[in-house]
Amino acid sequence: MKKHNFYAGPAVLPNSVIDKTISALKNFAGTGISLACISHRSKEFDDVINEAQDLFKEILNIPEGYSVLFLGGGASTQFAMLPYNLMKKKAVYVNTGTWSKKAIKEAKIFGEVVEIKADDFTSIPKNYKVPKDADYIHITSNNTIFGTAIFEDFDFGIPLTADMSSDIFSRPIDISKYAVIYGGAQKNMAPAGVTFVIIRNDIIGKTDRKIPTMLDYKTHIKKNSMFNTPPVIPIFAALQTLKWIKKHGGVEGVQKMSQEKAKMLYDEIDRNKLFVGTVAKEDRSIMNICFVMADKYKNLEDGFLELAISKGITGIKGHRSVGGFRASTYNSLPKESVKELIKTMKEFEQKN
Ligand SMILES: *Cc1c(COP(=O)(O)O)cnc(C)c1O
Repeated sequence: MKKHNFYAGPAVLPNSVIDKTISALKNFAGTGISLACISHRSKEFDDVINEAQDLFKEILNIPEGYSVLFLGGGASTQFAMLPYNLMKKKAVYVNTGTWSKKAIKEAKIFGEVVEIKADDFTSIPKNYKVPKDADYIHITSNNTIFGTAIFEDFDFGIPLTADMSSDIFSRPIDISKYAVIYGGAQKNMAPAGVTFVIIRNDIIGKTDRKIPTMLDYKTHIKKNSMFNTPPVIPIFAALQTLKWIKKHGGVEGVQKMSQEKAKMLYDEIDRNKLFVGTVAKEDRSIMNICFVMADKYKNLEDGFLELAISKGITGIKGHRSVGGFRASTYNSLPKESVKELIKTMKEFEQKN
């Protein structure tokens, strides 16, 4: 049966990415050696990481003065690495859900955190004041668990940093507004294991604290992400995804596809009497679409999951902190999968 992969992460990747990675695992760049077994200092791999950085910069239109890093440790290590490198005394964190909270917990190790929080996590806080003496502000642009998103590149008058784990490449970004953008690759770019960091070079070196070598951005900027052995297989896969994005019209092309898929699904959620969306309409994510059974139909939840599974629809069970359903419609999810989910929702409505 054809599978429709709505998992939140690790998540769907283009078929071409999987195929090319398998092929490189057997014979990498005509070397007769597996990608898994070749020196990261070989010319062949050096070409991969350089091309991945160049294409990353091209696709996101990254200006001069920024570096693109491929590191280990996941976005979760960035929660600590970022304040370690950037916080002198005080930083502002916009708390929009589970991942923001984890970032805040780490930041508090390094200084004072001014927290900006909505009443609950079904919308994004708006029109708040930012203290101008803070070292930076941190946002989570897409809230993978609650299904809300920020679509604007703000100018708060202090350096802006963002966790873009789950929405990178889903829209054009004005990079010049940001000091640091980071994310785990396993939502929209590659298998788990690599973390991307886009960093403005002049933001580092502002604190006096001693930073362990591996947690110092300077180390990785200087060594082009090759201070130690980088996650070679996910970096290779990331390059293939970047090529896929380019082929599909760049971020503008991908954004169009993602907006269209999300609109189709939200329209059905709003139309179908059995389901309701869980977040404020203006803050709806186009990557993670959360919905629940309407109050009158709460008892039908398991029935819908069963029907979905019977159609090959995988990974739509909501996160345990929200319940209901979450359909992750990442960049490379085929439109056909969204159509199948909508068809299944209509069929379930007819039966009930
Ligand atoms: C998944 C996710 C993370 C955690 O990423 P890891 O790479 O597993 O550490 C952090 N932030 C957001 C927004 C995420 O979606």
